[in-house]
Amino acid sequence: TSGRLGFTSKWNYSTKVEYKPIRSVLVANRGEIAVRVFRACNELGIKSVAIYSKEDRAHIHRLKADESYLVGEGLPPVQAYLNIPEIIKICKDNGIDAVHPGYGFLSERSDFAQAVIDAGLRFIGPAPKVVYQMGDKVAAREAAIAAGVPIVPGTDGPVTTKEEAKEFCIKHGLPVIFKAAYGGGGRGMRVVRKMEEVEESFQRASSEAASAFGNGAMFIEKFIERPRHIEVQLLGDKAGNVVHLYERDCSVQRRHQKVVEMAPAPHLDPKIRDQMTSLAVKLAQHVGYENAGTVEFLCDSSGRFYFIEVNARLQVEHTVTEEITGIDLVQSQIRIAEGMTLPELGISQEKVKPSGFAIQCRVTTEDPAKNFQPDTGRIEVFRSGEGMGIRLDGASAFAGAIISPYYDSLLVKVIAHSKDLQSSCAKMTRALKEFRVRGVKTNIPFLLNVLENQKFLNGSVDTYFIDENPQLFH
Ligand code: ADP
Repeated sequence: TSGRLGFTSKWNYSTKVEYKPIRSVLVANRGEIAVRVFRACNELGIKSVAIYSKEDRAHIHRLKADESYLVGEGLPPVQAYLNIPEIIKICKDNGIDAVHPGYGFLSERSDFAQAVIDAGLRFIGPAPKVVYQMGDKVAAREAAIAAGVPIVPGTDGPVTTKEEAKEFCIKHGLPVIFKAAYGGGGRGMRVVRKMEEVEESFQRASSEAASAFGNGAMFIEKFIERPRHIEVQLLGDKAGNVVHLYERDCSVQRRHQKVVEMAPAPHLDPKIRDQMTSLAVKLAQHVGYENAGTVEFLCDSSGRFYFIEVNARLQVEHTVTEEITGIDLVQSQIRIAEGMTLPELGISQEKVKPSGFAIQCRVTTEDPAKNFQPDTGRIEVFRSGEGMGIRLDGASAFAGAIISPYYDSLLVKVIAHSKDLQSSCAKMTRALKEFRVRGVKTNIPFLLNVLENQKFLNGSVDTYFIDENPQLFH
């Protein structure tokens, strides 16, 4: 599957890639993912640089970097991390070489990637035009079609009127899903199953989108019943080589948001796995994808699968892939940005051999008994689960940490790696039971309920699992 330009593409690569070492990396992010990148930098002997908002001045991610700079004074907490000119200025003023965007915040903003490059810095991610193309639903779907990847039937572009919505539903049949064109992170979606509800639902979804995302335009797709969410991890270099690092199953979702992720996908037919992974590679090669990325699919019970989107960035659940392949994705991202090729990194398709089974639980400071309302305050007592096969990726999980209401409620990612699904779940359950967190509520009781569920332990859950089993909340 690898090879230099063994495909037709509108982008031209030079076959010679210039290697230019990176000496310092600024992470335009906060919390656990900032620390994850600092750790990779540290191991590579690269200086790590943090930015932090006023609200985060005592946050641990600031202290885990070699240098740190305050951003966005006078701006609201989230806006502080979105202030592109100031982030670029910090890089320029302090001789920083490269920027890693993490996930969320500016990570999918092609204007940010472009601003980084225009300032003469390295962006640790795909080329800005690819970030743009993958972030634009219409362009991404066109690329998938051109690369021969099956897509979910959907509208060719954003829909703004209820008449257009009705027309689509009549033509393609129900159920359909409305998705806010400018939404994301699982928000702004609505499923419609009855023809008489199409128009009113559309109006309501559209006005919700307008107030939440500033634009009421919607995409409409055929709703796939009882799908599994399966995604393929990719790495591409500047020479046009692309390899896949197998798949993850992220079907355990609450309201379309991932909660538990695993690799490999349980009971996936090897033929389907081959098709999905090779189509993902084809799509990446088609668009000239460089650095780490993920192609997401929905898979129905008959084994048919459909492309939904490409995430042109590192994902929260990248850890489970690292565990089963032994490849450090963040180090790879940095090396690729320096100009190293996959062969130079010792990564070829033949050499990527998954081993065992890994599972990740997102431990959040949300109270399952109160409909997952975020809890805040000071962590009074903190003891974590540890031991063989357990990995913790976090930044605010310790006694004395203040959980603020300003940002995402992720406390720590707990990852278990063992030989198979059942033994990884046993490790995870054991580790989660070792946790003692006082002062702030967490979703650990809920995660333990999931891990005890027989259907889950059989590896046979689809994306309906949590929403259909409200007893898991108690
Ligand atoms: P976001 O970008 O907001 O995360 P995605 O398009 O990745 O949204 O979808 C998130 C989740 O929503 C999917 O994993 C799946 O559970 C559900 N979903 C999205 N599109 C469909 C669809 N056409 N049919 C069924 N479920 C869907």
